Amino acid sequence: MKTEKNRPYRLMTPGPVPLSPIVREILGQPMIHHRTPEFEKVLKSVGQKLKKTFLTSQPVFMHASTGTGAMQSALTNTLNPGDKVLAIVSGKFGERWAKMSEIIGCQVSVMNVEWGSAVKVEDVAEFLKKNPDTRAVLCQACETSTATQHPIEALGKLISEYKETLFIVDAITGLGAMPLPMDEWHLDVVISGSQKAFQLPTGLSFIALSAKAWNINKNVKKPDFYFDLRLEKKAIEKGETHFSSVVPLVRALDSVLDGLVDDRLEKAIKRSQLLAQVTRDAGQLLKCPAFSKSPASSVTALMVPEGVDGQALRDLMESKYYVTVMGGQDQLKGKILRIGHLGYITNDDMCATFGVLSLALIELGFNPPLDPEKIMVFVRKALGNSEVPF
Ligand SMILES: *Cc1c(COP(=O)(O)O)cnc(C)c1O
Repeated sequence: MKTEKNRPYRLMTPGPVPLSPIVREILGQPMIHHRTPEFEKVLKSVGQKLKKTFLTSQPVFMHASTGTGAMQSALTNTLNPGDKVLAIVSGKFGERWAKMSEIIGCQVSVMNVEWGSAVKVEDVAEFLKKNPDTRAVLCQACETSTATQHPIEALGKLISEYKETLFIVDAITGLGAMPLPMDEWHLDVVISGSQKAFQLPTGLSFIALSAKAWNINKNVKKPDFYFDLRLEKKAIEKGETHFSSVVPLVRALDSVLDGLVDDRLEKAIKRSQLLAQVTRDAGQLLKCPAFSKSPASSVTALMVPEGVDGQALRDLMESKYYVTVMGGQDQLKGKILRIGHLGYITNDDMCATFGVLSLALIELGFNPPLDPEKIMVFVRKALGNSEVPF
């Protein structure tokens, strides 16, 4: 993908996300060593704030990995080969849970959910009643491939009634964009990643275990060498990470987290919810209605009008207008556009995205009900006084 110098490039994807000017400045600072009193202070501050973002009393750990590393850490720190798990599969990331848990030797039951729909809590309840020896239920808070949100609070309540069953939640595009209070909702393992609502480049992942999960962690016979949370716990008590820390990302995280704690967490979530609502409404006005029956607040999937090639549409938006959105995968290839609204997304970014979408539709021979100017006016008005909160 080519970018001309000084031409605004709009990254409207569900990770990676645009960086704020403050984050870019911090990332450019001179390097320091990670075993220094100076960095120890940053780590301590980040550790305290992460707990307030996860809303847990438990420590939150960082791995130097993409989000998938935290998925692996979640499994290898709580499960043994032969353990029975239930993987809720409603898209590509659910498939990843199923594949990963199979590779570590679990007995995996897959609950297939129609793409674009949320899992039914009754179905999980029925499964657990029949299979009370299930060791973990694996789910996404938001299934990014279909932009669909699952009923995490209700699932947490249900699973908490089973003393030996953990609820493992991939909140990589959930945390910071939808309410997910870990302790209050009985979530046993919560993971996230830096390049989503944490507004940073890719390269850090986050994980926290509930008291119940820590108890079960004692029975893990073969922890992963790299992702061993027992070692990370010892390191954190000494003010360190077990392996080298990603100093620039952690320093930038310390700043970003100021916008994701206390009342600012709520504000950030509200902003995501507003962007999602405006995206659905503007899409509807362009004859691109929302695809999901349980739409997420971090990313929105819009259906591409009949007769328009979705792949050509996203390619045109990117190559000619420098707006990057994602298409659909597998069965949804060419049928949906996925517009991410996480990170440093300004009102201008939102207006431009829909102006460009309208323009690109026209260029591909489709006549949207609103021309570029009109849809931009709509988006501007719908966003009102709200601005990016950090
Ligand atoms: C982005 C994402 C991941 C992790 O992907 P990485 O490329 O490994 O960072 C996992 N689950 C969901 C739901 C995601 O959106």
